[in-house]
Amino acid sequence: MRALVVEDEPALAFRLQQVLEAAGFAVDVAYDGEDGWHLGDTEPYDAVVLDLGLPKIDGVTVLQRWREAGRTMPVLILTARSRWSEKMAGFNAGADDYVTKPFEMEEVVYRLRALIRRASGHAQPELVCGPLTLDTNTGRVRLDGMPVQLTAQEFRILSYLIHHPGRIVSRTELMEHVYDRYFDSDSNSLEVLLGRVRKKVGAGLIQTVRGQGYILVKPED
Ligand code: CA
Repeated sequence: MRALVVEDEPALAFRLQQVLEAAGFAVDVAYDGEDGWHLGDTEPYDAVVLDLGLPKIDGVTVLQRWREAGRTMPVLILTARSRWSEKMAGFNAGADDYVTKPFEMEEVVYRLRALIRRASGHAQPELVCGPLTLDTNTGRVRLDGMPVQLTAQEFRILSYLIHHPGRIVSRTELMEHVYDRYFDSDSNSLEVLLGRVRKKVGAGLIQTVRGQGYILVKPED
């Protein structure tokens, strides 16, 4: 999963990046509305944390532009005060959720995970695919009930696939949701990562569809 943080306060932006990366996200950070708008307009994020008070272009305008252009990713807005008018402006512009500053970092993580889960059509916090489960609240992965230890990158791959089970995910799509914008990625490293994930969850579960991509196989039920 890949997230965008748009926040002009450097210390807060850094904290959010750290916490989200620790929670298994690839994270891009923008420090003003113009850069944030551009990134959200061109990169396929699974979720966005958007401050409303931003230099260059304010957060509400950024969000309006994304929605007008058909960008549907879940957006959590950060509001400086508990003023209802500010939140209302955010919701009217297309926000999915909000937190009021100051907030607990973990709250942002939980809310983002829930937004992503619901945006991909899952009502329950636990995603199940055959023997594999992902608790989207805690980020824990289990195979036949036993905990699976994954590195951050392995987790991103598996998390993206289990949010979209039974559908072919192209190599490009998977890379776009696993790496941040500065990661010098090549398809070899993705293959290596996939190999490691397969070793941990069983080779048959993630299949390569030649020339098309990868699929997390949904068992017949
Ligand atoms: Ca601000």
